[in-house]
Amino acid sequence: MQNVYDVIIVGGGIAGYSAALTLQSLRRKFLWMGTELLGSKLRSAEYVRNYPALLGDGALFAARIEEQMAREGVVFTKKRADGIYAGEPFTVLAGEESFFSRAVILATGVSLAGTIGGEEEFLGRGVSYCAVCDGALYRGKTVAAVLARPVYAEEAEYLAGFAAQVHAFCLYPDPVFHAENIVAHTQMPRAVEGGMRVERLVLADGSLPVDGVFLLRDAAPPAALVGGLRTEGSAVVTARDCSTNLKGLFAAGDVTGRPYQYAKAAGEGQVAAYSAHAFLQGTGS
Ligand SMILES: Cc1cc2nc3c(=O)[nH]c(=O)nc-3n(C[C@H](O)[C@H](O)[C@H](O)COP(=O)(O)OP(=O)(O)OC[C@H]3O[C@@H](n4cnc5c(N)ncnc54)[C@H](O)[C@@H]3O)c2cc1C
Repeated sequence: MQNVYDVIIVGGGIAGYSAALTLQSLRRKFLWMGTELLGSKLRSAEYVRNYPALLGDGALFAARIEEQMAREGVVFTKKRADGIYAGEPFTVLAGEESFFSRAVILATGVSLAGTIGGEEEFLGRGVSYCAVCDGALYRGKTVAAVLARPVYAEEAEYLAGFAAQVHAFCLYPDPVFHAENIVAHTQMPRAVEGGMRVERLVLADGSLPVDGVFLLRDAAPPAALVGGLRTEGSAVVTARDCSTNLKGLFAAGDVTGRPYQYAKAAGEGQVAAYSAHAFLQGTGS
């Protein structure tokens, strides 16, 4: 006979953890799986300024969560989901194995696959994906921002409020900025280089000394993992209760779109868990 979980949570970041913590308190039978516990995006933050009551870096954040997991008996299973198939029950494929559940919470974050040399090497050491999270670390310094679309101009303006100078590399024509300390470029930088931290950006015709590099762009669509899932760009379309167009499938965290922040991910993880619980009771959407 199949072992059918109430809920399978896919994604080992803060959204997945928050969902797991909530389902644990609701005494649900669940499987929390992910490629890695908490992941590099949580562990590599230089200093977290915007998560309530947390004073420290990503390593401290991860240590606190692991301590809480042990106290609350939350178990993480290291597995990558290769496909999620809606049905009664849902089927989650992970390598050669299949897992079954009545509901699924998708908390897979956004893909940050590197496109610039040195991006992964300097992540958390001068490379960032979030101006709002890390902009204040560069007060009075020189930063570069690579903007995939005009919508990211807002984040470059935000950076300009802290940095002495912002070099905005816009991958679209005719960029417009209001702050006087933004210098617009229309080329793709080749690489990030430095020593212990970022020191310069390599361009086609030389290099530019910078203290930090912000890579502001979208991610790959999660619809590749879940057939039939409604998305807008890279984000899963959700209702306020984190439900998606697939009955019994909920989504939380970065995978539902911006802002890409811990507090939003944790909040949505909890909402998704309560919504899955209500769905299983027959009272939710
Ligand atoms: C360097 C850095 C610093 C940051 N600093 C801050 C900050 O100071 N403040 C702030 O609010 N935010 C910050 N952020 C943003 C924050 O990290 C994200 O918003 C947050 O981690 C999102 O959590 P999540 O659980 O939605 O996704 P993630 O943390 O991305 O976790 C998703 C996990 O799911 C895994 N996964 C993906 N696909 C699968 C699959 N098919 N099967 C199994 N697992 C899968 C991924 O590998 C990943 O481990 C920072 C990000 C970075 C990179």
